[in-house]
Amino acid sequence: MPTECPECSSELVRLDGEVALRCINPKCPAQIREGLIHFVSRTAMNIDSLGEKVISLLFKEELIQDVADIYKLTYDQLIALERMGDKSVNKLLQAIEASKTNSLEKLLFGLGIRHVGSKAAKTLAREFGTMEALSKASREELTAINEIGDKMADSIVAYFELEEVHALLNELDAAGVNLTFKGQRAVAIEDVDSIFAGKTVVLTGKLHQLTRNEAKEKLEALGANVAGSVSKKTDLVVAGEDAGSKLAKAESLGVMVWDEERLIEELNK
Ligand SMILES: [Zn+2]
Repeated sequence: MPTECPECSSELVRLDGEVALRCINPKCPAQIREGLIHFVSRTAMNIDSLGEKVISLLFKEELIQDVADIYKLTYDQLIALERMGDKSVNKLLQAIEASKTNSLEKLLFGLGIRHVGSKAAKTLAREFGTMEALSKASREELTAINEIGDKMADSIVAYFELEEVHALLNELDAAGVNLTFKGQRAVAIEDVDSIFAGKTVVLTGKLHQLTRNEAKEKLEALGANVAGSVSKKTDLVVAGEDAGSKLAKAESLGVMVWDEERLIEELNK
């Protein structure tokens, strides 16, 4: 196994609970390039025409060093690159422009904060509403939220303590990148008159009258948080046909269990 990063020669480290060795040098070209590729990916900022190849090229040409640089790219810089024609440059600039209006969760996920996946990013965006509010959140405020565990909370707090992060966010703001959540806020959800508001619900087994996704969407629209696994924080498990281990776990934890009929009945109220 290598002990040094093949790109920057820093010593690789094994982080808590992980098998793989990682390069943790924030200035490592491989880390920066991967971070940029992650930033533009579909679940993140979704800058379609900015694929891995173009990113690598822009990085090699030193036109982008961090994600804020993406918003400073000019037509002249891009047209000078190999294999970039007028049409593709314009398309790329339009895609970059369009990404500025993304809702907060996409940017939040795109920043690549350790342990913050796309689902957590959405939860955080919904809870805090703005990047600024999130950046000031304490560990206690974060762990009070369902789904946000100690590890993620520590990682978020540590991230926003970095001066470089604030500089980067200021740059993004100055470039006109949206830093607010555009969906329905959590506070608003608490006002929804629904027995599902603020409840964590797990769907398991086969449903017949609606698909798992339809059920999820309906529940979320009524203010529920639909989770993938059963824990002490689960308020309700909806068990369809052939429900297995999740149902068993719900029963062992004393979590309320409904069948599909009951769910439909309540959804229709
Ligand atoms: Zn490295």
